[in-house]
Amino acid sequence: MNINVLKFGGTSMNDHQTWKRVLDIIRSYEYPVVVVSATARTTRKLLEAGKLAAGGDLTGAKKIAEEIYDRHYELVKNFLDENPHKKNQLILESCDKKLDEKTGLLKKYLDYTAKTGSLEPKMSDAIASIGEQISSYLLAQCGLALDILTQHIEAKKLIKTDHQYGSANPNRMLISQKCGSLETVLESGFTPVIGGFYGEAPDGTTTTLGFEGSDYSASLIGAGVHARTIEIWTDVSGVYTSDPRHIDHARPIAEMSYYDATEMAYFGAKVLHPSTLKPAQERNIPVLVKNIFEADAPGTQIIRESHTNRKVLAMSFKQNMTLVTVSAYETLMGYSFLTKVFAALEDLHLPVDAVNTTEASVTLAIADSPKLDQLTKNLIAFGSVEIESEKGLISLIGCKIAEMKKLNEQIFSSIGETTVDMITFTKDKRILSLVVNENDLIPTAQGIHDQVF
Ligand code: ADP
Ligand code: ASP
Ligand code: MG
Repeated sequence: MNINVLKFGGTSMNDHQTWKRVLDIIRSYEYPVVVVSATARTTRKLLEAGKLAAGGDLTGAKKIAEEIYDRHYELVKNFLDENPHKKNQLILESCDKKLDEKTGLLKKYLDYTAKTGSLEPKMSDAIASIGEQISSYLLAQCGLALDILTQHIEAKKLIKTDHQYGSANPNRMLISQKCGSLETVLESGFTPVIGGFYGEAPDGTTTTLGFEGSDYSASLIGAGVHARTIEIWTDVSGVYTSDPRHIDHARPIAEMSYYDATEMAYFGAKVLHPSTLKPAQERNIPVLVKNIFEADAPGTQIIRESHTNRKVLAMSFKQNMTLVTVSAYETLMGYSFLTKVFAALEDLHLPVDAVNTTEASVTLAIADSPKLDQLTKNLIAFGSVEIESEKGLISLIGCKIAEMKKLNEQIFSSIGETTVDMITFTKDKRILSLVVNENDLIPTAQGIHDQVF
């Protein structure tokens, strides 16, 4: 069975017109398994409601729940009005019932959160997942109005995880076992539609896979069903040389390796969740990134080995970075100093994007996090600490070693007067990173892109 897993993100799930595009794409496949995000901005709104409730503004929180209900009801109503079918009245009633049930549940969670006065991680996941619970059910219903045999499948039956709320770890073996049921659904002529982003811990509670987690859900399911392709459908025609929303003349990359795509996602390219490629890579399943607004464009194919001969593949960038410089107290110079700095990072589970070291000091580029205060407290025990916030990180991915001289010349001629706080190059990872002031981030990235790509 040639199964294609198709994932549609929030931008594709935005309104009744994009839903029509999504369903037309689904219809063109023989054995599609569909994974969807929440409608655009809904996850953010849900979390905002949770925070309002925790802060005591239950009225404001419940207003958001009402808005979510209204937006989805309108969306389905508009969709059905534009796509007449004899079943539409039944479809609308069934969607309304589901919306009532899910927003009712949301309000219960908000009541609880207001009562406890804090948004616990467990509750935060339960609240955040409501967007996908709603969108997947409603899209499956709307498929019926186009005579597509879509069938909603509850994600918690498939995506089994541990208890790490907020960024749960999937249980790959169990997921693969559970995904067997999808083949039965496909064999009986139905198209499964599954909410991405969330899953279930062993005790039955809801967990989430982290922001942008629907990509990850799609890849886990793709590996589970031995899919022929995993297709990430979005609002741009593939992975670009840089974020096309911010960088002029960025252009799609036809082909790249799992490795380079993972590095790119890790260094800030929002188009893919950083963990997406791993399950696909393990089973050697090609991942395609495609545009719902330009379905015929080739997009990007992510495979084991790519044969591009560019001197550098892509550039990603991250805002909201902080530079932490620790200078050793004299008595602690040498190996023990570095060991202590990295142990402090490990204790707090804080990932570092770039590091520069001298004998007596270390500079770390770290994405802003509430844990930075604690890190500073811990580091002061063995060195003086300097914090510089509002920084940005630019990373050139897939640099060809043979081209480094030319690349360095181009980068330095393009950055002109901009102050660069830190430069690192990792030979085996083929990544060159620069840290600049956040205000200079986009102009500097644009300058580099103009010169290098
Ligand atoms: P979805 O809702 O489909 O998940 P996202 O907004 O998460 O979509 O991802 C698509 C967006 O990722 C694009 O609109 C684009 O602005 C952004 N993006 C950032 N870096 C890149 C890149 N290198 N290539 C393509 N898109 C990128
Ligand atoms: N809806 C979730 C988010 O906004 C997951 C996703 O869209 O991939 O992060
Ligand atoms: Mg996304």
